[in-house]
Amino acid sequence: MSAYFDHNATTALHPAAREAWLKAIDKHWQNPSSLYREAGYASQALESARERLADLLGAEPERIVFTSGATESNNTLFAGLARCLSPDAVVAISAIEHPSVCEAARAWLGRARVHEIPVDAEGIVQPEALRSVIAQEQPAFVSVMAANNESGVLQPWLVLAEICREHQVRFHSDASQWLGKVDATSLAHCDYVTGSAHKFGGPKGCGFLLLADAAESFPLLHGGPQEQSRRAGTENYPAIEAMVTALENLVPQLSAIRYVQEPLRDAFIQQMKAAFPKLRIISGNAPRLWNTVLMVMPEHSNLKWLTRLSRLGFAISTGSACSTGKEGSSVVVNALGASWEELRSVVRISGGWQTSPEDWAALAEAFVQVSKDLK
Ligand code: PLP
Repeated sequence: MSAYFDHNATTALHPAAREAWLKAIDKHWQNPSSLYREAGYASQALESARERLADLLGAEPERIVFTSGATESNNTLFAGLARCLSPDAVVAISAIEHPSVCEAARAWLGRARVHEIPVDAEGIVQPEALRSVIAQEQPAFVSVMAANNESGVLQPWLVLAEICREHQVRFHSDASQWLGKVDATSLAHCDYVTGSAHKFGGPKGCGFLLLADAAESFPLLHGGPQEQSRRAGTENYPAIEAMVTALENLVPQLSAIRYVQEPLRDAFIQQMKAAFPKLRIISGNAPRLWNTVLMVMPEHSNLKWLTRLSRLGFAISTGSACSTGKEGSSVVVNALGASWEELRSVVRISGGWQTSPEDWAALAEAFVQVSKDLK
């Protein structure tokens, strides 16, 4: 693969995370719940990783439950709500949530109890939209992601969390795409936060759920006392250590990375617009992650672009398939009311922390090459 533009799907291990993982698996491979001295060291190392993550989020360590990733964290939350809320209570989620939120909410609570908060033409959940859903539906719980996985749009989650607080409604944000790309020190203002290690240079199968308070307990997995009985199963300490190390390494550099990467992404957009004048950038005027472009190609289906570009050595993506259930379509573009034709033409480009100017330029040239080949 010569150039990887699918960082919103997953990332390679950060070198520091890899080193931390190897050290942890060699030094602290024991079960942190066992009672001998070495297991005690593993348990201490695990708690130290929890404290370091808490520092990065501005939260108390006791609020963090380690999980196998964002899908488990989101399911834990909605399964817990299904148990804790009264049977007639409803929840509200934004129209552009990841399937692990929208499908989990509907599966655990039933479709009738899940209301959608619409987005504006740029894919943003406006505070007035939330206020109006709260007034009309009186949800007990609201979930709005921090940054969208397809368009990269940054949601005003801090404002939304405040509105929920005013109305005594619990607020959750899936920050899987935000973490490692944008400063996260205010995230603890949300009652619940979801994170996933492999989106920011940590290993796959590792993540966390930040709970509203330490005493809260609604386990999805039963059968062990781990994580204060909030998530049964032996903790994957090496993966947790690697996740926290990846984030610690990225956080001090976030502004510098954005400073370098955003203009490269924007230059790519200009090159694409020059080559394809009818190209549509989704949410092009909204505040977005510095690495992401979601675009509707004026010619050919997204799967055609993807396979041809893949042959040339470029990894890109189509949208995902939540509410539409159609392969290769896009939750975001669907929420914005696009036609079926447009849905089939959406491609997502997501660069990384190290993507070079040459990589971005080569990708734009490859699009032009594929267009010529397909004529
Ligand atoms: N939430 C968002 C916003 C995502 O982008 C993803 C991954 O695509 C997930 C949840 C699921 O993450 P995981 O692979 O850790 O289950």
